[in-house]
Amino acid sequence: MQSKPTILLIYTGGTIGMVKDFDTGVLKAFNFKKLLQRIPELKQLDCNIETVSFDTPIDSSNMDPAQWAVMAKMIEEHYEDFDGFVILHGSDTMSYSASALSFMLEGLNKPVVFTGSQLPIGDLRTDAKENLITAIQIASLRHNNHPGVREVCLYFEYKLYRGNRTTKISAEHFNAFTSPNYPALAESGVHLKLNKELLLRADSGKYLSVHYELDDNVVIIKMFPGISERVLSSILNIAGLKGVVLETYGSGNAPTEDWFINILKEAIDKGLHVVNVTQCSGGSVNMGHYETSTQLKEIGVISGADITTEAAITKLMYLLGKKVTPADFKTAFETSLCGELSQ
Ligand code: ASP
Repeated sequence: MQSKPTILLIYTGGTIGMVKDFDTGVLKAFNFKKLLQRIPELKQLDCNIETVSFDTPIDSSNMDPAQWAVMAKMIEEHYEDFDGFVILHGSDTMSYSASALSFMLEGLNKPVVFTGSQLPIGDLRTDAKENLITAIQIASLRHNNHPGVREVCLYFEYKLYRGNRTTKISAEHFNAFTSPNYPALAESGVHLKLNKELLLRADSGKYLSVHYELDDNVVIIKMFPGISERVLSSILNIAGLKGVVLETYGSGNAPTEDWFINILKEAIDKGLHVVNVTQCSGGSVNMGHYETSTQLKEIGVISGADITTEAAITKLMYLLGKKVTPADFKTAFETSLCGELSQ
């Protein structure tokens, strides 16, 4: 008889585990072990669950590369002892964390499912229970004696997404995430339906290799009509800056004015990596499609294709941390590492 899957629940903080301070009405992180007692349903799941928690649970607005390293370390240290991992995380920066971990956990062959909620687990109308229970069920799925899912994903409001394809779209609705350029990996209704053909299939001979070095000398610049030469030039000349995610218009378009192209060209010639992503909520960069992106291509701007901004900035941090050489950088960025862009 096969033994029950074992799941490690990693609690980082976020609304899911918060309680209201009765004096101020403000939501604050709470002891998660006590909170778990409020979900007796967990005992009915056909798996063994263990929990670890951040020493000090955080609102995910305080998330940063050091905290990603803490999560990655927890997974690395427990990798052999568990069949799957569920990370409870605030929804605000969950897409950044899921993207970062997808790059950091190279060779991942087990599920890492991020989830959270819009209302605390103790709230009467909470979305936390369904999110948590189904995330654990997904992490427990087995197929031919292998984990059913072997990648970093995000489960929220009945849908499982590839983590590095997601973005938070609502501060109000339970349906808070979307994956604009890649379909949901699974949908939860009467049945839990896994779209197997969409899943990543890691090379089973590969071992987990965790990359902790992330370089935070990066910035996101969102284009807007009226952005000035002074502003753009000041940002691109920040001492030590190594990478820029440039959120352009439509399919990767930007002004054709000389000052704009010259500032970018100078920065790229000096070694700055500039990645073009679209500020549209869906679709892809296609440099050269319009006159307004042809010059960007010519001066060496990297195409982010249909990558999200969250995945682009964390991929920049990861590749810079890995010290990919300038000659290889553009190709490395434009190559999909773990399903973060379509090629
Ligand atoms: N501010 C919270 C956080 O991201 C929101 C949430 O958990 O949904 O930590």
